[in-house]
Amino acid sequence: MTLWSPDTCDCRIEFSDDGNLTYIATHNACAKHVQVANTAQHFTDVLAHNRKKNSIVSWLLNNVPSLTRTQLDGTKVVTVSVGYDPAAPVQNDPVLVKATDVGVPTLQNTATQTALDAAFGTGGVKVI
Ligand SMILES: [Zn+2]
Repeated sequence: MTLWSPDTCDCRIEFSDDGNLTYIATHNACAKHVQVANTAQHFTDVLAHNRKKNSIVSWLLNNVPSLTRTQLDGTKVVTVSVGYDPAAPVQNDPVLVKATDVGVPTLQNTATQTALDAAFGTGGVKVI
């Protein structure tokens, strides 16, 4: 069994490690995902929510060198916070890329936003 706590919300889900998800249990449902009564659907929704954030982190690593740095061991990491606003409603819940926190110039953020809109669709990601 794995007890999973995604870094994108406060849900906690336990699932079997058999590759077939024969067992799934919700231990906690965050305010965004609490409306999803079906346990399997809850797991699917939380996983998709988390994977969307992960795909944007990967995209930033590959496309925006100014928002990344290479660590001593050679691995590249993003230098900005990438995640969701816990208070955002499910219907309007873009992934937030907090570039201004690290002092990235607005003009550069506008270019990043345009590229993210092209890659993920307008409204799916917000550079703030
Ligand atoms: Zn959640």
